[in-house]
Amino acid sequence: MKPYQPPSASSLPMSELTMVLLTVGLGSAVIGVVAYIISIYLWLIILFPLAVGFLGGALVKWQIKGAKLGNAAIAALIGLFAGMLIYSTFFASGYVHFRLEAEKQLAADAEYFGVSPSDLLDDLLIYETGSGGFLGFLKIVEREGIEISQVTDPSDRGLAVTGVWVYVYYLIEAGLIAGVSTGFALDAGRQPYCPQCRDWIEKKINVGHVSTQQGPEFRSALRLGNISTIKEYIQEELFPHPPYLDVVLMRCETSPSCDGVLTIRQIRKGRRGSTAIKILDRYTVTPREADFLANLPGNQFDWEPGMASKPDFSASFGDQSKEIEEG
Ligand SMILES: [Zn+2]
Repeated sequence: MKPYQPPSASSLPMSELTMVLLTVGLGSAVIGVVAYIISIYLWLIILFPLAVGFLGGALVKWQIKGAKLGNAAIAALIGLFAGMLIYSTFFASGYVHFRLEAEKQLAADAEYFGVSPSDLLDDLLIYETGSGGFLGFLKIVEREGIEISQVTDPSDRGLAVTGVWVYVYYLIEAGLIAGVSTGFALDAGRQPYCPQCRDWIEKKINVGHVSTQQGPEFRSALRLGNISTIKEYIQEELFPHPPYLDVVLMRCETSPSCDGVLTIRQIRKGRRGSTAIKILDRYTVTPREADFLANLPGNQFDWEPGMASKPDFSASFGDQSKEIEEG
């Protein structure tokens, strides 16, 4: 069968892409500044960078879904861009704050010497560290170190990191923020997309599930295009227990003449009883093949792995807000 091909980067509407970049850019800058203002009062390691990344990710996901950018690679790049911009703004706010505070303290001296506070600050930075401006600021931070408060009590003086560890710490923070926002973006951009309708394919049909033992054979049969043999592998059991493979067909809601997308996912028990879902294969199927798959007497209920035996049949599945691993 034909592997599913996401729309190429060049086929994405440029005007939409520009709007997304502008909105994400502006939003990320706001998140970065607000995060810095909060960090003056309280900053928890790991937890706060993750929360900031989550905010950035939600912004990117909303934009990608709205602009219908159905290309996972482009989506991931936008997520990375957001994460890096958030951290840059966060960091730059720290520098601006430092300058404002220092210049306020130097105002009287500057007047006495007949220079501007800004020039005096740079002179002092050069005297202290050998460099003025941003580089001088970095060297000061490196020397003075940063205090990491580990508990909710901001008066608690936590662990202090100095020297090269300051950069390691910054790198970890930046990595957490960019990692989370990129993950969100990737999740949004990976949704199957119909080039004919220029829209996401939303309608989900559970074709059924296949045992892990039969998995390799089943997958190679699909690869070879034997779609009719799918019947031999589909199990009758209604609510299977992980691990197993599930087979999901996605079709356009509006037009039955569009190609469908067939996704093979691996379902297994994750950590602490969660359900881990990994996309194994994705194929484009013709409307005729999609009709065939949709009418198989397998598990046709609208339910998702992880719902156990209490599926809520009224639930909708537009949003994939659960643990999804890299395919
Ligand atoms: Zn379509």
